[in-house]
Amino acid sequence: MKDLGKRLAGIGEDLSHIDAILITHEHSDHVAGLPVLARNKNVHAVIYMTRLTAPSIDWGDAPPRRLETFQAGSSFPIGDIEVESFSVPHDARDPVGFCFEAEGVRIGVATDLGYIPESIKFHLRRTDLLLLEANHDLDMLKVGPYPWSVKQRVVSRVGHLSNLSMSDFLCQDLDSSTAFLVLGHLSEQNNHPEIVRLMATQALDGRGLHTNLAIAEQRRPSEVFRF
Ligand SMILES: [Zn+2]
Ligand SMILES: [Zn+2]
Repeated sequence: MKDLGKRLAGIGEDLSHIDAILITHEHSDHVAGLPVLARNKNVHAVIYMTRLTAPSIDWGDAPPRRLETFQAGSSFPIGDIEVESFSVPHDARDPVGFCFEAEGVRIGVATDLGYIPESIKFHLRRTDLLLLEANHDLDMLKVGPYPWSVKQRVVSRVGHLSNLSMSDFLCQDLDSSTAFLVLGHLSEQNNHPEIVRLMATQALDGRGLHTNLAIAEQRRPSEVFRF
């Protein structure tokens, strides 16, 4: 929560002014600090997650009052933003990705997915900005420090998207109208930002696309994208 506050302050925002927080799934790298944040009196944000995800989070005494649950796959408005949720193949209870649309601008968010099924490719069409996972380099993962069972989990159909799968998507499916591509959820152990940049650049160049590319970092907020 402290870190989130600091990062928001860095772009001139304040946690107390945030209207909504959307959770994709219950894994700890996504909800660490959420129960504390939900109990904080200065935070007024409504917390959104799927009906099945909510009970799989350890809320402490009771779930927060401002919890709003939705059915995975449904769409709903938050203020003037139309939110579209879609199921993703990942080993969590009921994981989703999101698309956000407002004033003709469409943003897609797809991380924590083992592969990209056709249904998700459909959702990610027409996005002006796409945040896509580039989790691991297959060779680094193979020789890396993870135990065998975890390596198996990561590369499985319900694990994480490899650089190669990301690059395949850019070669075959990325919409030419996507102005900004942000690659994120990079593994610190099994990937390197420069490998991700190289593979993405090669894929984009191969198609003659001039998409703006950004690599999201774990410990620093990305730039602010404006439309
Ligand atoms: Zn996850
Ligand atoms: Zn994750």
